[in-house]
Amino acid sequence: MIKEIHKKLQERTETTVDLTMQYLNAIKEKDSDIHAFLSVNEKQALQKAKETDEKIKKGEKISFLEGVPCAIKDNICIQGVPATAASKILEKYIAPYNATVIKKLNERGAVYLGKTNLDEFAMGSSTENSAFGVTRNPHNKTRVPGGSSGGSASAVAAGMAVWALGSDTGGSIRQPASFCGVVGFKPTYGRVSRYGLIAMASSYDQIGPITQTVEDAAIVTDAICGDDEHDNTAVKREKGGFYNNLKPELRGVKIGIIKEFFGEGLDHSVKKIVEERISFAQEQGAEIIEVELPHIQYSMAVYYLMMPSEVSSNLARFDGIRYGFSDAVDNDSASKTILDVYLQSRAKALGDEPKRRVILGTYALSAGYYDAYYKKAQRVRELIKMEMRDVFKKVDVLLSPTSPTPAFKIGDKSDDPLEMYLADVYTVSANVAMIPAISIPAGSIQEDKSQLPVGIQLMGKWWDEQKLFNASKALEISYGTVAKLAPTKNCSR
Ligand code: GLN
Repeated sequence: MIKEIHKKLQERTETTVDLTMQYLNAIKEKDSDIHAFLSVNEKQALQKAKETDEKIKKGEKISFLEGVPCAIKDNICIQGVPATAASKILEKYIAPYNATVIKKLNERGAVYLGKTNLDEFAMGSSTENSAFGVTRNPHNKTRVPGGSSGGSASAVAAGMAVWALGSDTGGSIRQPASFCGVVGFKPTYGRVSRYGLIAMASSYDQIGPITQTVEDAAIVTDAICGDDEHDNTAVKREKGGFYNNLKPELRGVKIGIIKEFFGEGLDHSVKKIVEERISFAQEQGAEIIEVELPHIQYSMAVYYLMMPSEVSSNLARFDGIRYGFSDAVDNDSASKTILDVYLQSRAKALGDEPKRRVILGTYALSAGYYDAYYKKAQRVRELIKMEMRDVFKKVDVLLSPTSPTPAFKIGDKSDDPLEMYLADVYTVSANVAMIPAISIPAGSIQEDKSQLPVGIQLMGKWWDEQKLFNASKALEISYGTVAKLAPTKNCSR
């Protein structure tokens, strides 16, 4: 998709301004229903598009992403633009600097249409935890788009952006991609800089692309990856090149099927689609190997202990003094003492889910409990990593469902946090082990005629994104509805 658009722009069969207008019009037409965007930057987008057109007119070569309209999750900072993380506490916050991924995209001339909705501070699996209203799944508006990058996934699925950035701490790129019938990729931890991403759980967070095709995911990853002087967890590696080396590949590829992931709780129609894809891979010459990962069942426990601990530490900066909402200034009957400012600002401007996690995390990190909880979880994390190290000696990639169910109904799980956490059961392991993982469209539910998209997940070895992309490219099927949802050519200006 990006390649085709790039060709049209470079060969001047379409102008960047026209293309950008089409997407802005698609947002106007569709987003009142879907609510994928929290803010739209029409003026800046068109200005950037104009600059690109001038460049092309002068005969200059443009890079792949130049002039291609995209959307950015609202927990990633673009200088001068609101970055709310879908929280009331940051409602009026304007980012004073660019995230490293944005700096890199600016160098490549990306056009930002706007910032997309998410669960508050990326905590959730349905985008219902946003302080600014729920996003709806473009395939069925009574359903959630998944989360926390639900705005980015639904924007791409509804043809309101060519591609988008999301962030993935426990599945927040892959699960919404699966619910919306698009591709979502979480790179190896450390492949992409986290500088300028509003932190949730720092040893888990990674930024990655949500796109319509695997090829597009490779193109975007090439653009955003690399080390960074602002983030010492972003590691220096050989530079990207994922797109250039992309070739569909299944023959001789050893695909591990995790036994533990096919048991209780997996929706039977999702299971059926995943099994069909496994058979397809086998027909294409892949070797299917069932593997057992006895510690993987502890991934959820490790994640839901370490993540809130890191959340409690990261959210401490939102105290009503340094950032955003302050009860001392934003309220008529303002707090009188400093303690009141802390307490009231947080009480009034943080939602239930961040509060729940801050309390859990503070408890887990408190004196006397640290060893029993955080440290123990860290040890189990190492065990899971070791298990992964062993399994990747036997297989090239692991294949599983992305989520145990298709998109659920809005409101179905919002009162039951534990139920909601279970939506992450297959995705968190990749974050715990820090390995790369991708969700690609695998089909849609036929039995109940709901036609809801279903994704499959492929996980790979640390830094071996190329193998993941290559196998995914051979396995992906484009989800028909996406094409139908793409913007129409009639653009009015
Ligand atoms: N759904 C998971 C959670 O609520 C993952 C979130 C994420 O990846 N940002 O924590």
